[in-house]
Amino acid sequence: MALQGGPALAIDILAMRTLPYGCQTIDEDDLRAVADALRGQRLTCGPLVARFEEAVARRVAAPFASACSSGTAALHLAYAAFGFGDGDEIITSPITFSATASAAYYVGARVLFADVDPRTGNLDPASVEALIGRRTRAIVPVHLAGMPADLDELTAIARRHGLRIIEDACHALGATYHNVPIGGGTSDAVVFSFHPVKHITTGEGGAVIVRDPKIKQRIDRLRHHGIEREPSRLLGVAEGEWTYEVQELGWNYRLPDVACALGLSQLSKLDVFVNSRRELAAYYRQRLAETFGSDGVEAPVELPDRTSAYHLFAVAIDFARFGTTRRDVMARLSAAGIGTQVHYIPLLAHPLHAARSREAARARPGVDHYYARTLSLPLYPSLTNGDVDRVVSELARCLRGIS
Ligand SMILES: *Cc1c(COP(=O)(O)O)cnc(C)c1O
Repeated sequence: MALQGGPALAIDILAMRTLPYGCQTIDEDDLRAVADALRGQRLTCGPLVARFEEAVARRVAAPFASACSSGTAALHLAYAAFGFGDGDEIITSPITFSATASAAYYVGARVLFADVDPRTGNLDPASVEALIGRRTRAIVPVHLAGMPADLDELTAIARRHGLRIIEDACHALGATYHNVPIGGGTSDAVVFSFHPVKHITTGEGGAVIVRDPKIKQRIDRLRHHGIEREPSRLLGVAEGEWTYEVQELGWNYRLPDVACALGLSQLSKLDVFVNSRRELAAYYRQRLAETFGSDGVEAPVELPDRTSAYHLFAVAIDFARFGTTRRDVMARLSAAGIGTQVHYIPLLAHPLHAARSREAARARPGVDHYYARTLSLPLYPSLTNGDVDRVVSELARCLRGIS
């Protein structure tokens, strides 16, 4: 390890500190915001919900946003609001969190898994187009690790075939594509998550961005039991101002005011969070190049027309070249107090997704290549350059057997 000087005890304590692969950043402002909300009149269904929604929409240059209880709920609401149902199909990446696909099963839809670009793990547009059939309704790009997918190519394909684009942007709050924030583009819907490991947190929470005000209305109704209160939209006669109608089957997917208070406070720091993630990523890149050269460990690619929000710092390692396995490296890093994770086990390797899909046998060379090498190293705003030094030198020790 490259630590110079300093008492041995300090080094020992440093070495003991466990670094998770990701975690939230909570400060005194956040605590105050939540305490204030708790002292207020409304813990849920109050004024902070609309304020948070407006702040999210403004930040991503979108017309409006609907807050909801999780990123998974946001995906479910989007699929439901566009009317996807039994027998419909969506096409997405197998390198994603389970919910991208499970939320489609909630509405009875089937999921086809395309291949990915082996460098980014993002959808390969050509392989998406090859899967489009009569029942296909949407393409669902996942901006893996925070790096936007090829939205121009995917949008052109969607237009040619009359499909929706629903972005799973749970990794990409704060990312940009052609200088436009993810969420502010042309897609039919864009979904965010506010789980603690994501860029900002509300404990649990999510949001859906849509462009069509009618779809926004439907999403707001579906997240609240399918209840409609607006007099002009009631189907029957209003007996009074208190009248409401349950117009369709919905769910309780509301995000409470307490969570929105935290979300507002967190959102005001999004730029700081994303900048520190980018700076740490740049430092990782430098340290990896100094340590490994072009020798078997690759930092995530950067692309000229888009910026990653660096939800993850996923490196590509040629484990066989180092005569080791990912399993062994992860175990050794863990023993050294360094948390890593694999994003993701391709969905078709899971019993649920294998059982639901009837196309498991198709070759996906991009997926195989990406999955074999990927490893997410610790990345979050409170990580320090010293922590990065520690991760990179520990990784070198694991891969090269130096101790
Ligand atoms: C986190 C995440 C989700 C689900 O979000 P939750 O808020 O945890 O329900 C969906 N898709 C991706 C890619 C995610 O990373």
